Formats: sequence, C-alpha cells, structure tokens
Amino acid sequence: MKDAVVIGGGPSGMAAAVRLAERGYDVAVIERKEELGGILDQCIHDGFGTKIFGKALSGPEFAGTFIGRIQRLGVEVRLGTYVRSVEAGGGIKEITTVSPGGVERIKTRSIVYAIGCRERHQFEIKIGGTRPAGVYTAGMVQRLVNLYGILPGRNVVIVGGGDVGMIVARHLYLEGVDSILVVFPEEFFSGLPRNAQQCILDFGIPYRPRTVVKEITGRERVEGVVLVQVDDRWRPIQGTEEFYPCDAVILSVGLVPYTKKLADIGAEIDPRTRGPVVNEFFETTVRGVFAAGNLVQIFDYVDDAVESAYLAAEGVEKFLNGEARLEKPVRMNPGENVRTLTPHGVEWKDEKPVIAFLRPGIEGRAWILIRNEDGEVLKKFFRPYVRPSTLERIEIPRDILRDAGEVFVDVRGL
Ligand SMILES: Cc1cc2nc3c(=O)[nH]c(=O)nc-3n(C[C@H](O)[C@H](O)[C@H](O)COP(=O)(O)OP(=O)(O)OC[C@H]3O[C@@H](n4cnc5c(N)ncnc54)[C@H](O)[C@@H]3O)c2cc1C
Repeated sequence: MKDAVVIGGGPSGMAAAVRLAERGYDVAVIERKEELGGILDQCIHDGFGTKIFGKALSGPEFAGTFIGRIQRLGVEVRLGTYVRSVEAGGGIKEITTVSPGGVERIKTRSIVYAIGCRERHQFEIKIGGTRPAGVYTAGMVQRLVNLYGILPGRNVVIVGGGDVGMIVARHLYLEGVDSILVVFPEEFFSGLPRNAQQCILDFGIPYRPRTVVKEITGRERVEGVVLVQVDDRWRPIQGTEEFYPCDAVILSVGLVPYTKKLADIGAEIDPRTRGPVVNEFFETTVRGVFAAGNLVQIFDYVDDAVESAYLAAEGVEKFLNGEARLEKPVRMNPGENVRTLTPHGVEWKDEKPVIAFLRPGIEGRAWILIRNEDGEVLKKFFRPYVRPSTLERIEIPRDILRDAGEVFVDVRGL
C-alpha cells in the first residue's frame, strides 16, 4: 500500500512526488511515456524556472533538476505505464495500470493527478476543408523538429498568436523554412510582448492580425489555406477570402486539461478552466484525490505549475494525517472581469495565506479586489498591467476569509 501515487511524470507530477518523498511518504510516479519530463523534453527554448531558480533554463534542463531529485530520493517510477482506471470511492484507492508487463493494480491512500493537457485541434476552431497530411499542432511540431530533426514543411502557416505559436514561428525561421505566415484573430499578438518582440518582430516574420484560416485545401498533402479577415468579434468579413499557398498548417490555438479520467471518478469540473474544481490544497471534490499543474488550469509558467504541485503535496500530507477541515468552507467565485479562478474554495484549517491564480478579462492598470457577498472590499492588490494572456497570482490572508461564506474576486481597470 502506497501513501500516495502520482499519475503523470511531468514537472508537476515530479514536484509533488519530490515534496512527498522529502517528507518521508512512500510515493510512486506512473508515467505513460518512456521518460519523465512531460512536455518539457520537447521545449528546447529557454524561459523555464525564472521564478524558482532565478534563471532561464531550457525545458530539458528544468526537468533534469527534478529527475535528479526523484532519483536521489529513490522514488519508485513506473515508465511506459498507462493508467487505465481508478477506483476512488472508499478510503483505499485502487489504480489499474497497463504496461508491457501486463495489467497491474496498485493500492494507495491518496492520489495526485498531474496528467497535463492536450492541444486543441482544427475542428474545435471550425476550420473546414479536406483532411490532407501536413496539419499539425504546435506540440507535434516541437516534437518532430526538436526530438526527431524533421521539418513539418517548407512553406508554413501558423494559426495562433499566443506564446507557443510565436516560439514555434521563431524556431522554424531559425531552422530555415522558406516562408512563414502567422495569423490570429486578435488585433495584436495575445502572448507576452517580450515574445512578440523577440520571436516575431526581431526576425521580421510576416503576420496578419484579425485573420483566420477558413479552410484547408489539398488532396494528399496541404496545398494551401483560405484566409479570411475577421471583425473585432471574430466574425468573418464577407468578400475578404484569399487563397494562400502553403504545405503545412500549424495550429497553436489553446490547450485543454485532460479531465475525462477525473470526471469518470466523479470529480466536479469547472466549465471555465475546464479543469477540476479544487480547494486551496488542490484537492478535487473526491476526498483524497488531488490534482496539479496544467490539468487544473493552463499555467503559463512551469514555476506556477510546480507551486500548485507543492500545494497538492501539502494537501496530501494534511489528508493522510487526518488534519481538521473548516466547519464551513469558503466558496471562491470569479467576479467582474475574471475569466478563471483557482482555487474554487477554502476548506482546511491552516494559517498560511491562500494562493490563488486568476486570468483577467481586461488589459491595463488594475486593482484585483476580494469582496464578500455584500460587496464589501476585504483586500485589494494593485497591478501596473494585467492582460488575459498573463495569469495573476495573489496571496489572500486567511483572516479576511474567516467570517465570509463566500468571496468574489474582481479585476477593476483604472
Ligand atoms: C510549447 C510550450 C512552451 C512553453 N514555454 C514555457 C516557458 O518558456 N516557460 C515556462 O515557465 N513555461 C512554459 N510552458 C508551460 C509549461 O511547460 C507547463 O506549465 C508545464 O509543462 C505543465 O506541467 P505538467 O506536469 O502539469 O504537464 P505536462 O508537462 O503535460 O506533463 C503531464 C504528464 O502526464 C503524462 N500522462 C498523461 N496521461 C497519463 C496517464 N493516463 N497515465 C500516465 N501518465 C500520463 C504525460 O505523458 C506527461 O508526461 C510552455 C508550454 C508549452 C506547451
């Protein structure tokens, strides 16, 4: 019987396992791939670890630090092992795995799910046309180029102006593809201005704002796309269609947490984050089942994903030790101009501030306000600049939550 089983060996899973092993718990990590590291092994650009290590590491370097700690602590790791099902109803949980060694069952007192997210595909953004070879997601391209040395095409259209799309554009430019065009429906790139400058503008890579791909054409291989301009509500403007020849289309249009497995065991899912509903120690609505990292919500920085994993590990410890919960939990609701908010509630007796992550719905100078049901402001945090593409992290003192049944978090522009 394990104290905890971590499902997923990416940075979040490894961080949760390391923290639990350091505290003396018997923990195992289950990873479906043949190596630990999650999506970091394909991210050879730097920018990982600026908050935790104070320097910009590449993805493999960042993962390597955690892999080293896992090995030194002697954490049991099962690679090439896929979690097929979980029974989490009673006190003891049972995980059924499939690996080349066969089907196995593992009993555990608690579970941390850290299985990350998937990339959205063409049909989720209503791109019509045929289904030829040459349509990729950005993650697939990173794997092809960085791990296998294969270019996705010579004349490439990238759909999406977020950080990942921009990073992939710069990478393909440096790899020497013949042409790149980046299209996106917003007025300007939705990712960090730093990335817009360093990945696109510095290299003179062509881009078209307020433009989307309406259709992909080609029989066996992509032959081109039909581009169309859109208005400020992303509605196609009739008569602006244009055929644009290319041999590869790369989609970088958002990530969706892999929550089916959690939903299967009865965990409540938040339609805004599309991840599980969690309390301040990232425990789902199924007791003793925790979640961390991109499975909970999309974290722009791996450092924040790791922090969520450390909080989940702390929650596991509280759960295993039978620590007290609040008699009356506090609900946390996204209020004005807040697209997503984590956690969804505060449930444990603890002294430390509640760490919350929120995605603003507006751009500019702003206050982040915590208010109660009567509209009374309990705490405010100033931010010189917020934007939807940047997740905000706040620390809410517990004493202000003590008498509140529920609180709302607003973002108010200045
Ligand atoms: C292209 C790109 C660029 C990025 N650039 C930066 C950057 O510059 N700086 C930065 O700080 N952050 C960056 N990020 C964000 C950062 O990479 C993520 O926040 C972080 O990797 C999330 O880690 P995770 O462990 O939650 O998920 P993942 O890394 O996705 O790990 C999940 C793991 O779970 C495994 N798994 C899934 N299902 C199962 C199952 N059923 N059984 C067993 N295992 C399973 C998967 O194989 C995977 O190994 C970037 C992300 C992307 C996509």
